[in-house]
Amino acid sequence: MSFFSHLECSVPCGAGPYDPRREQHLCTCGAPLLARYDLKAARAWRRESLAAREPTMWRYREMMPLFDGETPLTLGEGWTPLIHAVRLGRDLGLSRLFVKDESLNPTNSFKARGLAAAVTRAASLGAKTLSVPSAGNAANAMAAYAAAAGIDAQVFMPKDVKVPFIRECELYGANVTLVDGLITDAGRIAAETGKPLGWYDVSTLKEPYRIEGKKTMGYELGEQLAWEFPDWIIYPTGGGTGMVGMWKAFEEMEAIGWKTPGRRPRMVSVQAEHCAPIVRAFDEGKERSELFPDARTIADGLRVPKAIGDFLVLRAVRESRGTALAVSDADMVRGMRDLGAIEGISAAPEGGAALHAARMLADRGAIKRDDTVVVFNTGGALKYLDVLSMSNAEC
Ligand SMILES: *Cc1c(COP(=O)(O)O)cnc(C)c1O
Repeated sequence: MSFFSHLECSVPCGAGPYDPRREQHLCTCGAPLLARYDLKAARAWRRESLAAREPTMWRYREMMPLFDGETPLTLGEGWTPLIHAVRLGRDLGLSRLFVKDESLNPTNSFKARGLAAAVTRAASLGAKTLSVPSAGNAANAMAAYAAAAGIDAQVFMPKDVKVPFIRECELYGANVTLVDGLITDAGRIAAETGKPLGWYDVSTLKEPYRIEGKKTMGYELGEQLAWEFPDWIIYPTGGGTGMVGMWKAFEEMEAIGWKTPGRRPRMVSVQAEHCAPIVRAFDEGKERSELFPDARTIADGLRVPKAIGDFLVLRAVRESRGTALAVSDADMVRGMRDLGAIEGISAAPEGGAALHAARMLADRGAIKRDDTVVVFNTGGALKYLDVLSMSNAEC
């Protein structure tokens, strides 16, 4: 039984509620919309019922944007391993270091979770063409799920995107447009092109369901740690969907009795040295970020100079008593090599960044030896192998 009920402004500004049985994007005030559930009724749902379920993110379907009778579109996303990285932990001086390995999702990154949810909803609303601006991984995931749904896909990526991302979109039959500029420019051009044609825009946080897919990472952490939540979550942040989603998951689990209210994991937002709008806003005590000038980094997923949900990420970081840290490109590559050579894990630069941030916090003594730490490896190394041959001088 689904507890999905309505959509609400994330600020909240007072407009709405919005009807999820129609296509919805942003609130009239311009802020992202959030999916809401009948939490009172959901208190009757027992977490013990999960044990017999399929190993995908849809095991939490009662708290997903699905109405009764709807079937999710799935390629097996979610329920990724939470690896106790004992050897790497020894190296960092941590006894309980875990890596949530999101590289094992369809299309090699956690973008599969968000896009599986967004494309499922778009398909049930009868969308004919989907469009997305992307630094690479979101485009691959969207193209795959659109193919599985039999819907046309239009992707817009910066023209310096790595070739494997372009080829994989083509593999799934998507139409690729390369844009001169950053993901923010790709977003503008995608909207200008698609609006008059009635394309359904699945940009990060510009539709409400990618958050719902990514929030399942929070549910999984609970289930995989026997409902003892971690002390720290170290998360490489671009648009921030995963941070916002996991924070929402903790709130929901507290409301339905799956988590003791109160102590939540400290959320650490990790960004790139030359693209760190959230880190800058956090350090300056601001509620929103400013467009980061000349944004550049080898971690394509982190090259987001200004995120529409920045205030939600900053809220989660502050309310959790977490922090925000920037990592250099050279240190990301070092993190990738450590995950690879010490644990056998294939990591994207974003995952390398998260590991390096854990190392920095452990070195400073912020993270204590026996704290439970979860580092998110948000994607695999294969589409980024060129960065391994870069010299430190180039990084
Ligand atoms: C998109 C992406 C990120 C950033 O994710 P958000 O949830 O949008 O902040 C991190 N890592 C990888 C590999 C990505 O593709």
